[in-house]
Parts: sequence; structure tokens; C-alpha cells
Amino acid sequence: MKPIVAIVGRPNVGKSTLFNKLVGDRVAIVDDQPGVTRDRLYRETEWAGKEFVLVDTGGLEPRNNDFMMTKIKQQAEVAMNEADVILFVVDGKNGLNPLDEEVAYLLRKKKKPVILCVNKIDNFQAQQDDVYDFWGLGFEHLIPISGEHKVNLGDMLDLVVDIIDQTVEEYEEEEGLKLAIIGRPNAGKSSLVNRLSGEERTIVSNIAGTTRDAIDTAIEFDGNRYILIDTAGIRRKSKVEESLEYYSVLRAIKTIKRADVCIWMIDGSEGLTEQDKRIAGIAYEEKKPIIIVINKWDTIPDKKNDTMKKMREELYAELPFLSYAPIEFVSALTGQRTTKLLEHAEAVFAEYNKRISTGLLNTVISDAIIMNNPPTRKGRVVKINYATQISTAPPRFVLFCNYPELVHFSYGRYIENKLRESFGFEGTPIDVIFEHKN
Ligand code: GDP
Ligand code: GDP
Repeated sequence: MKPIVAIVGRPNVGKSTLFNKLVGDRVAIVDDQPGVTRDRLYRETEWAGKEFVLVDTGGLEPRNNDFMMTKIKQQAEVAMNEADVILFVVDGKNGLNPLDEEVAYLLRKKKKPVILCVNKIDNFQAQQDDVYDFWGLGFEHLIPISGEHKVNLGDMLDLVVDIIDQTVEEYEEEEGLKLAIIGRPNAGKSSLVNRLSGEERTIVSNIAGTTRDAIDTAIEFDGNRYILIDTAGIRRKSKVEESLEYYSVLRAIKTIKRADVCIWMIDGSEGLTEQDKRIAGIAYEEKKPIIIVINKWDTIPDKKNDTMKKMREELYAELPFLSYAPIEFVSALTGQRTTKLLEHAEAVFAEYNKRISTGLLNTVISDAIIMNNPPTRKGRVVKINYATQISTAPPRFVLFCNYPELVHFSYGRYIENKLRESFGFEGTPIDVIFEHKN
């Protein structure tokens, strides 16, 4: 599990600018699936060989709110609970602000490592005096930086890495298929964990380091072992925190990254919300297998023969990027169909790890090409010569062709659909990549 480094601070201090400079644009957007929430709120990055996840909490700030102070405080609160290192950004050009002091007070109360980044110090010689005031905030680590002009960012990252090395202990993984139970507050995540674990709920491990408030639950079913990863029910957060979007987003990021399979719970009595989609978007982007669960089935009135079918169709229409995911209808309250989720998990995980022989793959690809040639573009004909599966988990296919740059996204989608028709891959994302080779 990679450590989480969160950028916090009041608006306009330069959080987003810093975030963008730090992650660069090394991460290409590989496809543009409709419906995927593409907010770039978090990015994996690396410094001196140490990988971590950088979160821009600024990107999660509500756009228009009259309760600035409350929101910022809440944001700091969230960062304190979820992040391993906090980059507290202040505006060195405009000087110390009462809001900074409020945030500092909150951050100091907890024992999370904080680096106070005095930003907009574009020219340290000229602005030295601007920095001194900020020592008064009482943080051990203070560093003048300029996000925009990339001044001192290397030193700042060295500090981040040092702190990570000191504080984040290695986490020993338990044996078993790791299932992330994700979803927004009140979807029924804890209820599901309780239901599946029954009386024998055993706390198998405290996560080391700064995330020790999350625990895993090990269960056995049909001779198989599962680790349910759910941070929801362990320590009830305050109501305010629960309702915060970035809280569930941060939590989802953490959980999904560690998981083999995501179990995404939707409150069937409420339907799909934007927050739901955002959480699902993370699972999609992380390329993890996913099972969509409509919970609280017991509350759905007047169920008919085709109610499930209709709901499935509606969901897929709203979530076209997840059309490969199975949908199950459960009641965590009564236990109806909850163990089926474990069967689904086994199945999608097998698909996620499936390997197709090169011979068979090329037969399917050749047939697909005969039925529908890559469109000619700019007078040039794209010719696909050969395909191979380069990896599993997720399955990744490379198609070698003369002009990969001319292949449109929609043709890749067509090939993906053909692969799914022939080989299944239910519940797992797959990657289709075009590479150059004459
Ligand atoms: P956020 O609201 O904290 O995410 O702040 P932004 O990243 O949107 O930046 C707010 C403003 O500060 C923008 O106009 C930036 O161009 C400016 N800014 C950000 N970083 C720097 C910096 O290092 N030096 C200077 N001079 N301006 C900066
Ligand atoms: P979490 O925040 O996602 O962990 O959700 P909880 O497990 O705490 O459940 C939120 C509320 O929904 C609680 O009051 C549960 O009793 C209720 N709930 C959970 N699952 C079901 C269900 O299948 N049917 C009904 N009727 N209520 C449920």
C-alpha cells in the first residue's frame, strides 16, 4: 500500500498548481470513456524511488460555499485521519492569514507529520522576510517553495520521502482474496461486512503506521479465505465527516489500491448519485475487477419479474464504462444473496488473471478485422499484423500495426468487445494497446 500525501490549505494558496507541478503530465489519459468522472484529484507519483499517492484536497473543495471556514477545517480533519504526510500550503506572498492559524491549530492537535510549505516564494533572497512569520505556526518542518516556478520542490520531496521512511511501517498482508467494500456513506458497507462475517468476525490485523484505525476482517466461506477491507464500520466517524465527499474518496482510494476485487455498494433505496459515480470511477481507473451491488433490496417496493432486468439496463446506461461488471441485488440486512458476492468475486478474479493463448487470440483478432477493418485515415491503411497478451491482472493485449497513432479509440473499443464476446472477461477491465511494428 502506497503512503498518501495530502495537500491542504485555504483556497488560492497554490495547492492545485503545486499538485500539477508535482505529478507533471507523465500520466497520459488513455481513453475517454463516457461517464467516467475524470477529476484529477489524486495521482501516483514517485521521488527518489519511493512511490506515494498525492491527493489534491483543493480539487474536492465545494465550488460555492458560504461556510469557508467550516469546510477548510473539515478538510484538514480529513487529511489528518487519512493521510500519512500532510503538505500544509500557505501563501508566502500574502502573508499569514487567520485561516492559516485555524488550520494549523487543528493540524498540530494530532500527531500526523506536517510539512509547512510557504508557497509563492519565487525569489527567496527578496522574500526571506515573508517566510519568518510562518515559523510562528509551530511546525518543525517548514520549507519555502514556489509551486509555479518549481523552486525548492526537490528539497520538499526529499523531506516527504524521509518522513515516509520514518513513519510508515510495512504492512504485512494476510492470506486470502482481498475484497474492498466501497460505496458512499450509508450504502450498507458495514452491514455487509457484519453479515458476511457473522459471529465470527475476527480482527486479523491492525494496519501499521498511521492508518491503524482501519482493520481487515478475515472470513472463510466454502473453504476459501477472504479479507474484507472496509474502514467504514470500525471507528464511526463524526456525522459531518461521514457526509464529506472527499472523505469517502480518500477512503476509497486507499481501500481500492490494496484490493483484488472491488465490491461497490449502491443504496438501492436511493439510487445512483454523483458521489457514487466518482467512487466507481476510482475503481475503474485503478483497473480493478468490480462487482456492482444494489443493496437494501428488501426496501424496493412492488418487485416484479423484470425489476432486476430493468434496473440492470438502467445502471449500465448510466455507467457505460462499467458494462463489464456483474450486478447483484442483495440485502445486507436479511442476508439475501450476500454470499453470492463471494462467488462473483472468485469468478471475476479468475477472469482478471486469465491468459489467452497467442494462437487463439490471433484467430479472434483476425476474424474481428475481417468483419470490420480499421478505418482508413488520411489516405493511409492501418494494417494489424499480430496480437499478443502481455500481462494479466488486468489482462492487457498489444496489437502490432503499421500506424498505431491512426487507430481511433472507438476501434480499440470494438476490439475489446470482440475479445469479451469470445473470452468473457466478465467483471474485469481489459486493456487493448496498439503498438508500432511493420
Ligand atoms: P488553490 O486554490 O490552493 O488550489 O490555488 P491555485 O493553485 O489555484 O493557485 C492560486 C493562484 O496562485 C493562481 O493564480 C496561481 O497562479 C498562483 N500561484 C500558485 N503558485 C504560485 C507560486 O509559486 N508563485 C506565485 N507567484 N503564484 C502562484
Ligand atoms: P455504511 O455507512 O456504508 O457502512 O452503511 P451501514 O452498514 O452503516 O448502513 C447504513 C444504514 O442502512 C443502517 O441503518 C443499516 O441498518 C441500513 N441498511 C444496511 N443494509 C441494509 C439493507 O439491506 N436493508 C435495509 N432495509 N437497511 C439496510
